Amino acid sequence: MNIASRSLCPILFVTFLASIGSGCSLTEPVAVADTPPLILISLDGFRWDYLELADTPNLDRLITTGVRAEGMIPVFPSKTFPSHYSIATGLHPGHHGIISNNMRDPRWPEPFGLSERDQVNNPRWWGGEPIWVTANKQGLRTSAYFWPGSEAPVQGVQPDVWFPYDGAVTWEHRVDTVLGWLDQPVEERPNFVALYFEEPNTASHDHGPEAPEALAAATAVDAAVGRLSDGLAERGVLESTNIVVVSDHGMALNDEERVIVLDDYIDLSREETFEIGALLQIFPAPGREEEIYTALAGAHPNLRIFRPEEAPPEFHLYNHPRLAPILGSPDPGWEVVPRAMVESGRFIRGDHGQDPSHPDMHGIFIAAGPAFEEGTTVARIPGVDIYNILAAVLGIEPAPNDGDPARVTGILKND
Ligand SMILES: [Zn+2]
Repeated sequence: MNIASRSLCPILFVTFLASIGSGCSLTEPVAVADTPPLILISLDGFRWDYLELADTPNLDRLITTGVRAEGMIPVFPSKTFPSHYSIATGLHPGHHGIISNNMRDPRWPEPFGLSERDQVNNPRWWGGEPIWVTANKQGLRTSAYFWPGSEAPVQGVQPDVWFPYDGAVTWEHRVDTVLGWLDQPVEERPNFVALYFEEPNTASHDHGPEAPEALAAATAVDAAVGRLSDGLAERGVLESTNIVVVSDHGMALNDEERVIVLDDYIDLSREETFEIGALLQIFPAPGREEEIYTALAGAHPNLRIFRPEEAPPEFHLYNHPRLAPILGSPDPGWEVVPRAMVESGRFIRGDHGQDPSHPDMHGIFIAAGPAFEEGTTVARIPGVDIYNILAAVLGIEPAPNDGDPARVTGILKND
């Protein structure tokens, strides 16, 4: 707490004081208002090396004034919902329960999918404690302009302000709304803000990482970050705001030569394949599990097949009950496809979701503001370590999580 905010106490907390009918208190509400805002930004699919490959002057400026990790190592599977929710909770998917973008739970008939709004909104899927819940429980205010998990009341708690996901909302509107939140009187403005942008993920899927279109999308999303930085600078609060920019995963270049045609091994007409592509989830019909497993295991040198209990320990899946009985993970750059897709000529140029130890799967971590070191670069950090960093910046007690503070030294100023 600094002297300025103490001296402002009688003005800032008039409403609060009126409600409790006592003198100026230097207890929790002052500390709440005094926390410099923390803005957590996600640039979906921004691979770690796009910072070199694309023109990103605004992110470069943040790096110059702050700290950058050489990369962000996502969780397995390195997919959008699992990874964003791991960043928010510090938990691996095997612990928070969002084990893929699409999943089934043996207890419920309805599957989870990104466009299944009734499921995305339903707290029964979302385990762990995202940072906004931790913050709200400890008296801070939080707002989210889109983040996986923010649409459901996790532990009965949602960000104070949140929106149902709508990709049609312009980035300019999102940024200007965030700036508007920060323009509010200190006792009303959020202490924590989450802000999400869809690119360069879509362009990288469509055209491949490193394609001109993907790099142009990286530059476009950099401009959105620049609009936010410029807005904060105009208000004279850029230096006093903590900004963390992450991405959820990277992207590997696919190739028509690197496909594993699933129909070559099993009968796809039986609708047992629940997810295909960069992650394979198969729910065999009763009595068929052994047959399918035998047909797939070891069948292709670039496809790892495993049952949940045999999953590589470094994937941290912990035999979660939502895992399909048979799982497959192709090597990065390889794609499991149905023959119909090959014949249709449709092909996805870039993808992610595979082994997160591969550098192509790695995202970014950039942080700038009063809480962070200046002008330094640290080694690649696991995504599950970000939650503890966010909690430390907000001055709150983190919930139990899979992060390890010893892995992320050299980021926070007062480590
Ligand atoms: Zn993503």
